[in-house]
Amino acid sequence: MENFFEKIAPSYTFEIFPPKGNASTAGTYAVIDSLVSFNPDLISVTYGAGGSSRDNTVEITSGIQNKYNVCGVAHLTCVGTTRAELKAILDRLKANNVRNVLALRGDLKDESDLGEFHHASELISFIKEEYGNEFDIFAACYPEKHPESKSVEEDLIHLKEKCDLGVKGLISQLFFDNDIFCEWREKARAMGIKQPIIAGVMPITSAVQISKVVELCGASVPDRVRRFVNAYGHNQGAIKEAGIAYATEQIIDLLTRDVEGIHLYTMNQADTVRRIDAGIRSVLYTKRYALRSDR
Ligand SMILES: Cc1cc2nc3c(=O)[nH]c(=O)nc-3n(C[C@H](O)[C@H](O)[C@H](O)COP(=O)(O)OP(=O)(O)OC[C@H]3O[C@@H](n4cnc5c(N)ncnc54)[C@H](O)[C@@H]3O)c2cc1C
Repeated sequence: MENFFEKIAPSYTFEIFPPKGNASTAGTYAVIDSLVSFNPDLISVTYGAGGSSRDNTVEITSGIQNKYNVCGVAHLTCVGTTRAELKAILDRLKANNVRNVLALRGDLKDESDLGEFHHASELISFIKEEYGNEFDIFAACYPEKHPESKSVEEDLIHLKEKCDLGVKGLISQLFFDNDIFCEWREKARAMGIKQPIIAGVMPITSAVQISKVVELCGASVPDRVRRFVNAYGHNQGAIKEAGIAYATEQIIDLLTRDVEGIHLYTMNQADTVRRIDAGIRSVLYTKRYALRSDR
């Protein structure tokens, strides 16, 4: 099995969501058919904290790994669940040859949601205790801090705790301002965090989407983005064009600033990915070629 962490940086990876409940998986596989043509280093599959799509996460991640021979990463949340339930899911992943998980706490509606686990770090410890090094574990990180943290510094202390438990890579929350990401990355490195930090980029495709996303994760919106959302928000086609152009430029700038990986939040929109891919491909491969020559 190919190991993601042995591949050359900068990595190029995608996130998709599985179908909800009993909905057919055919549409999701059609999206994956298109996405694999862009040669991603891995595809990660989200996990419904409410439980609606947990089986589908296992099924789709297994399909990515086994049918497409692309590294599949299963997101796994621990909030409101038990060790036995998590073990059952991890056993199924293992039996299906999936050896990469993104270990998450999940969002809390209130403190009574917590159950047996309080933080993602406890899930990471649990996986290590039960499975040793059989899984490569990713964790989430937040360039603009997690909304529950009082400060970036406090959040980084807890991120370092997760890293010290044996996390192999970090995937960041989406952000729109590369300066914020790069300044935060320096702080993370100064704290002794050495794991590859993969930058999460979400293309803006509608005014509703960006307002929801900002409300949920608190990402800063640069003036330039605010201007095009205000100007074209009423026109679906126009805002999507502007969003694709912005994400493309954002990624090119991140690659120029030596980011270790780009993680595209695809929202299962293969056509948006195709447009961005066309805009970044030669920069991505130039960067990879330069790094290979330096070795
Ligand atoms: C890349 C990415 C993918 C995601 N995918 C999903 C998904 O598929 N499904 C889903 O439901 N959600 C997903 N989420 C959202 C995630 O579940 C939420 O952001 C959640 O609120 C926090 O998860 P975490 O793993 O970062 O938690 P934690 O690492 O536990 O951090 C949560 C908060 O607790 C603090 N904290 C951590 N440890 C301690 C400690 N020991 N003492 C005190 N405070 C502590 C942290 O600083 C932070 O403020 C994703 C987020 C990201 C960035």
